[in-house]
Formats: sequence, C-alpha cells, structure tokens
Amino acid sequence: MSSFFETKIEYLKGVGPQKATLLNKELGIFNYGQLLQHYPFRYEDKTKIYSIQEIKKDMPFIQLKGFITSIKLDGPPRRQRLIAKFQDDTGSVELIWFQGASWIQKQLQPGVEYLLFGKPSIFNNRLSFSHPELEVYTALKEGESSLYPIYPSTELLRKKYLDSKNIAKLQKHLIALAFQNNAISETLPQDIIDNYGFYSKAIALLHIHFPADHKHLEKARARLKFEELFWIQLQLFVEKGKRKAALPGMIFKEIPLVTAFYKNHLPFDLTEAQKRVVKEIRKDFLEGKQMNRLLQGDVGSGKTIVAFICMLMAIDNHAQACLMAPTEILAEQHYKGLKPYADALGITISLLTGSVKKSARKPMFEQLASGELKLIIGTHALIEDKVIFQNLGLCIIDEQHRFGVAQRAKLWKKNDGVYPHILVMTATPIPRTLAMTVYGDLDVSVIDELPSGRKPIQTIHKFDSNRLAVFGFLKKEIEKGRQIYIVYPLIEESEAMDYKDLMDGYESISRAFPNQHISILHGKMKPTDKEFEMARFVKGETQIMVATTVIEVGVNVPNASVMVIENAERFGLAQLHQLRGRVGRGAEQSYCILMSDYKISKEAKLRIDTMVRTNNGFEIADVDLKIRGPGDLTGTQQSGVLDLLIADLATDGKILQEARYSAEKIIDSDPKLNAPQHQNLKKHIISLKKSYVNWGRIS
Ligand code: ADP
Ligand code: MG
Repeated sequence: MSSFFETKIEYLKGVGPQKATLLNKELGIFNYGQLLQHYPFRYEDKTKIYSIQEIKKDMPFIQLKGFITSIKLDGPPRRQRLIAKFQDDTGSVELIWFQGASWIQKQLQPGVEYLLFGKPSIFNNRLSFSHPELEVYTALKEGESSLYPIYPSTELLRKKYLDSKNIAKLQKHLIALAFQNNAISETLPQDIIDNYGFYSKAIALLHIHFPADHKHLEKARARLKFEELFWIQLQLFVEKGKRKAALPGMIFKEIPLVTAFYKNHLPFDLTEAQKRVVKEIRKDFLEGKQMNRLLQGDVGSGKTIVAFICMLMAIDNHAQACLMAPTEILAEQHYKGLKPYADALGITISLLTGSVKKSARKPMFEQLASGELKLIIGTHALIEDKVIFQNLGLCIIDEQHRFGVAQRAKLWKKNDGVYPHILVMTATPIPRTLAMTVYGDLDVSVIDELPSGRKPIQTIHKFDSNRLAVFGFLKKEIEKGRQIYIVYPLIEESEAMDYKDLMDGYESISRAFPNQHISILHGKMKPTDKEFEMARFVKGETQIMVATTVIEVGVNVPNASVMVIENAERFGLAQLHQLRGRVGRGAEQSYCILMSDYKISKEAKLRIDTMVRTNNGFEIADVDLKIRGPGDLTGTQQSGVLDLLIADLATDGKILQEARYSAEKIIDSDPKLNAPQHQNLKKHIISLKKSYVNWGRIS
C-alpha cells in the first residue's frame, strides 16, 4: 500500500504518542493501514431491543430500553459500588458498577430514557448487568445505519479510553481522511472485480467498518474475504510454479511388477477411490517433474496398499523406494504386512529402526548404496546421514503429523541430482479448504471410501454411573474371543493426576476381570517395555489393553472390537476419531464407548455427539475446524498463513474455491507474473511475503 497507510498511528487525530504505544503493544497496530485492517468482529444491531421479560440465562450482549428508577452507592468508601435499578414495561434489572461509582452516578439521570447495552448475568440471585453501557435513547434517524461496529479491544485499552466505541471513532477519522486523500487504491485486478461484481477496495473498507445495512456489510465482507484468500492462493501458485519449473523428477513408465502384483497377488479388489488415487499418482510419475502429493484417507481406507503399488512403480523403473513410519511398532507392522508381497514378487525388502543392531545395519547400508536393496521400511532412522541410497526414486511418509517439518525436508536431499518423489499419507483428514491453504502447493489426493463389507463402528456415549453395565458388555465381548482397548487421557510430565487415573483404572479393571490378561501402555514406560506390552496384545496373549493415547496412530489389531475411552470429554475430536479407528478393522461388529462425567462442557458435548452421529472423518474434521479454528488443527499456529483477518476456513470454503480458481487462471496464463498488467499483483505478493511462512513448500 502507498505511504498514506504507512503513516504512524500516533499522527491520527485522537491518538498521540501515549495511545499509539498502547495500540502497538496491545493490538500490534503501528500504522494507518493496520488500523484499517483492524476489522470489527461483530456488529450491534441497533434495531433489536429486548424486553426484560425476554432475558434468558446465557444470553450474549443485548440491548434494553428503559429508565433508571433508583440509584445508590453501597459498601465501604474505598470499595464503593454503584447499584441502580433499570426498568422497562415488563420488569426491572439491577445495574452494578464496581469502578468509577461516583463518577457514573453523576452522569445518570432519572426520567431519561436510556438504551442499555450489556451482558445479563445472575448476581445475588437477581438478574443484573455489571458495567453496562448506557446512552440516551434516540430513535434511529432515517438513513442512519442500524449496525454498529464492535472492535476487539483489551482490558488495558478499555481502561485507557480505547474501548470499542473509541476505536470506532478513530476508524471514522481514518476512513474520512483516506477518502479525502483518495488514498485507497484498488488491489484486485479489474476483471475479477467485474466478474464477481465486487465493491472497490475503498467502498469495501468503508462498509466493513460502517455498514449502511446488512446488505452492504455482506458485500464488503465477500470482497475482503475473497481478497485475503486470493493473495494466499496466488502466492502458493507462484511458489508451486517455481518449484515445478525448477525441480525435474524421475519418470516411471514401465510397470511389469505392478501388473504382476495386480494379476497374481492383490488379495482384494481395490476400491474405486484407491484406483483413482493410483491413477493420479501414476500420472505424476509420467510428467518428469518431482511429485509432492498429500494422500488423505480415513483410518482403514487402505492407504498402505496404494503406497505399495506406488513403490512398485519406482522399482519397476530401477529406482529404490522407502516408506517411513512415525513409530517402531508401525514400521514393523508395515514391514510384516508387505514382506510376503515383496517376497512373492522377488523384491528385496528390509526394515530399519532404532533397534536394528549395528551388525545388521552394515550390510543393509551396503545393499542400499549398491542398489541391491530395493525397498526399505523404517522409522526416522531412515533420514540419518549414514543412510545412502543408490537411486532413491520415491519416499512415502505415513501418518505425516508425527513428523517434524525439518525431518521431512531432509528426505529431499536423499538423492543426488534429482529429488525423489514424495508422497505424504495422513489419516487425519483435514478439510479440503484447509488442505488447499496449508498445503496449497502440495497436490492432494483423497481416498474417500472404505473397502466394502466393513461394518460401521457403533459409537455410544455412557456416563461413569453406567460403568457396571459397560463392564458386563466387555465381558461378553471377551467371551466371544475379542480384545478390548481402554484408553485414558495422556500422561504428561506435570500431571500426576492422569497417572493416578490410569493406575486406578488399571486396578479396578484387574478386579473386574480377574481371569483376563491385561496389558498396560503409557508414555512414561521405556520403549522396550512398550514394545513388549504391545506385542503381547498383538499376539492375543492379553485380552485387554489399558493405555494412554500412545496407541493412537496406525496400530492394527483386527481382533480388537471394542474401544473404551475414559474421560472422553477431555479428548479432541481428531484424537477421538483416531482412537476409534483402532477398532473396526476385522469382520466383526465393533464398538466405541465414550465414557464421561455427567457434567461436561457444551463443546465437549458437541464433540461426543459428533462422534456418536458419524464415522466420517471428513465430517468430523469439519466440526473440529469449526470448534478449534485452523491453527490448532494443523499444529501450525506460528504459520502466518492461518492468521486470517476476516476469512474463516470453516465457513468460507466456497469463497476459497473461487479465489483459488481466479488465482490459478492468472498463473496459467502468466506463471511468473511477468506481464505488464500483472506487475501490481507481483508487487503486492512481494510485500506480503515478509510476513508469510510457506509451509507447503517444506512439507
Ligand atoms: P489405513 O488407510 O488406515 O492405513 P490400511 O492400509 O492399514 O488402512 O488398511 C486397512 C485394512 O484394510 C488392511 O487390513 C488392508 O489389507 C485392508 N484393505 C485395504 N484395501 C482394501 C480393499 N480394497 N478391500 C478390502 N480390504 C482392503
Ligand atoms: Mg496406515
């Protein structure tokens, strides 16, 4: 933006050096541009006035219209409160001020009709408002907006007379000044504005702060949301273009092993979704450019076999492939699952984890370096510098969220010259909108279908008081030969309580199931002990696994049919879904029992109800996104990408699609934004780049 917007905030009328320092510190506002982008987070609709009779518990901020009928100071002089009675035709409420009592008392006038704005609460058994805002009621004049902007502020700012109302005043000055100076220039290309019928930037900014009415507000929002998402998408495409152009990839054309596997060894028909994804990846392999693809597929959707087929494509073309898992248990499981196929096809395969002995490593490393070893499965041990490939063509990362960004980046360097193709697989379905933004320069494939014949897991919510009945049910399942997981919240260093809960639980389960063998697994155990306990359960030597969330990712015990989650209210949705995915892997009907206290928060209730309602990971991810917001969901709070000012990935999927489409069109016609008409775009992107971290690139 031009220098007008870079003007220091202290020069704005009504600010000055002191308030400027506060705005810097509290809201990160240093200049005019940043203040203008400090958008209202909601609007008060001045036309909606409640009657006292209508007030209910837990209402948000509301407006009342009425008179002050009594007013008195209360309490000792130093801690005086002001208490007033406010009345309308339907009843009365109490107003309380704990601060500035005598000053406020002087302002209030009996007999004057006031508009009250505040949040009702119950105090001393009475309906009351503490520190409400009052202003003399005047009927709306014709043409006057009924929507009042409410700005985010802070406790400190409110004390120093920078509450929402005062911020609105500053905005009013600033907007007027900007219009006088003709300072707000257009940032979006004209054809996009025409195409969507958007407001100009100046009009959009005016109506986002001071909307004439709901219609104007919506139009202003639409434009600003679009714009915000458009820049992110355009920037991602610029990056992607650069990378595609810069990074050649190996071409995997031949498919003899793939064909042989399909014909002779594939134990089931692939689902349509699996076939589609295999095709998408094959297409990438033929392009001569390095693939960077994210494969999303719900737990149990069959990602492993897709991974294997892709690895065969690499091996078919004299390249090597590796599959990296986040834990030893998972790596081993993959190895055991894939070894029979590899053997049948005559492919050399090895497992490399932290516990592989030095003596066994040496020949493995030699075979890798000579190219004799085609396929290697392992943990992060694979990215150690000592591991050198003869010709690594494809690297697959399973359960991506356990790997650090830096670890992933290291994989790129595993091949001299041409970078290997990268496929990242995740069972944590992130909503498409989010994937498009966070991983905007990764291509995304989705397996959105489970193999047929699976019985959907039944999920039930039970209160702690039903425990006996639940135990009875578990007994019956064990008698049928099934195995059971019972999961407790994570044990963290500081949380002695969790540990106690787990141990108490273990005790009571041991008492309730005296004839069963019980495994226990938690994060404080030594890795070797963990492996041992897990192995006992996998082999069926124990019937019950009492554990914390350490069992969360990927573990496959098809005979386990019940997942009991204790204190389910304490788990996030993604985690609940992951845990539930540990059962329902065999042919039997499986169950997930969510145990909770009787009293749980609204949000916890929503999470549990969502789990009971659906098994669909994408639906669950959408709810999760709505509850938690995007930053939390991907663990990339630091990422500037997600610090959206106005757009909301949970609700603005459609706008995102449009923004992406528009950005793509521009990049298709002019990949490097070199055309004269794109110079403004290019400049704007460069100016944004300073505050922007591109996570997609290193994923
Ligand atoms: P995830 O996507 O969670 O990693 P897996 O790859 O472990 O899922 O597959 C889960 C189970 O489903 C495995 O036992 C696998 O053999 C089986 N499976 C995968 N694809 C199919 C299919 N198309 N038809 C039947 N079973 C399948
Ligand atoms: Mg898996």
